[in-house]
Amino acid sequence: MAFRGVDYLCVDSLFSDEELLVRQTARRFADERILPVIRDCYRDARFPSELIPEMAALGFLGANLEGYGCAGMNNVEYGLVMQELERADSGVRSFVSVQGALVMYPIYSYGSDEQKLKWLPLLQSGRAVGCFGLTEPDFGSNPGGMRTTAQRDGDSWVLNGEKTWITNGSASHVAVVWARTPQGIRGFLVERGAPGYSTSDIHGKWSMRASVTSSLSFSDCRVPESNRLPAAAGLKAPLSCLSQARYGIGWGVLGAAMDCYETARQYSVLRKQFDNRPIASHQLVQEKLAWMITEITKAQLLAVHAGRLKDQHRLEPAHISMLKRNNVAMALECARLSRDLLGANGITDEYPVMRHLCNLETVKTYEGTDHIHALVIGERVTGVPAYR
Ligand SMILES: Cc1cc2nc3c(=O)[nH]c(=O)nc-3n(C[C@H](O)[C@H](O)[C@H](O)COP(=O)(O)OP(=O)(O)OC[C@H]3O[C@@H](n4cnc5c(N)ncnc54)[C@H](O)[C@@H]3O)c2cc1C
Repeated sequence: MAFRGVDYLCVDSLFSDEELLVRQTARRFADERILPVIRDCYRDARFPSELIPEMAALGFLGANLEGYGCAGMNNVEYGLVMQELERADSGVRSFVSVQGALVMYPIYSYGSDEQKLKWLPLLQSGRAVGCFGLTEPDFGSNPGGMRTTAQRDGDSWVLNGEKTWITNGSASHVAVVWARTPQGIRGFLVERGAPGYSTSDIHGKWSMRASVTSSLSFSDCRVPESNRLPAAAGLKAPLSCLSQARYGIGWGVLGAAMDCYETARQYSVLRKQFDNRPIASHQLVQEKLAWMITEITKAQLLAVHAGRLKDQHRLEPAHISMLKRNNVAMALECARLSRDLLGANGITDEYPVMRHLCNLETVKTYEGTDHIHALVIGERVTGVPAYR
């Protein structure tokens, strides 16, 4: 059955006709193309790569960038696309987030003209896939401690080190890799097949099963100076990319929460217990549904406001921390409550809830954990950093 949307407080009245049209397009794509395959993909731990050309044709890759074939969507339209994709599965939304916010955005913002002309059309059209290598085995929340190094040698750079937990890693034609140089942290485009570069996939995940996650290894990996991102200097460059991705996550998880809420709402009306009455007739059940719809509505308003601020270039990283942290925690709790209301059925993949719940555990951790975003907000309101 096609998704009707979740709108308790006339939030749709905040969207323009164009924004609603973009949402409708993404909604139909999720319903007709992702949902029919996603359960099997999740079971088989397979990313549905056959959908990449279609997502590209619909303008979902690098959707809020201008030029190079990109759709030039505003940030609310972009957010609504993320919402609908994640309503289907966080793994598919992750693919689009990484490709757009973590690969195209750094090339767009920090790349040379040649890098932009070479890679952005390929990445926008889905003819190339990219990944973003920041996290290392010993440095997750604290990427500034990274050990991967890049040493200049004539016209090239020699990279040594390891990145891990990299979405799209082994599927990528190009990796945006962050490494320590004598001048500070710099970004490099490492192309598939570069000497000394190899990838291996991480298996055994109970979360993000429909997403490729890999480790990247650099052993005297040589890349030309022309593959360094010339305008990226210091940790603030990768952090600016994370801000783009976190903004999309703040919207995406709304989709997962809506799917969990709507699944529980429909189930509670149909499922009967005690005197053949629907479980929806019980106060404890209604209280859970009331909590979910209230929190979803508040999270929608937060996302729309953040989107409008972003379009006015007034959205700051500390604002995005609040959006990401609040909306992910909200979605995770919706998934848990929905799982509860579905009883035993809630643990099967006949319903999407347990899949969302497992995926959202990753979304809570990546792109800055809940704790780290709390510390960003804490620093913003006190002026005192408390990370160490
Ligand atoms: C499926 C998946 C895909 C991912 N994709 C990518 C990707 O594409 N590219 C990439 O670079 N990375 C990626 N990541 C990595 C992700 O960004 C990291 O896992 C994340 O930054 C957390 O790092 P960590 O796992 O090392 O946890 P740690 O940093 O070891 O944290 C463990 C716990 O300690 C807490 N903690 C740490 N420091 C503090 C502190 N100062 N105060 C309070 N609490 C603290 C954390 O909040 C957390 O609860 C991915 C991860 C997953 C699971």
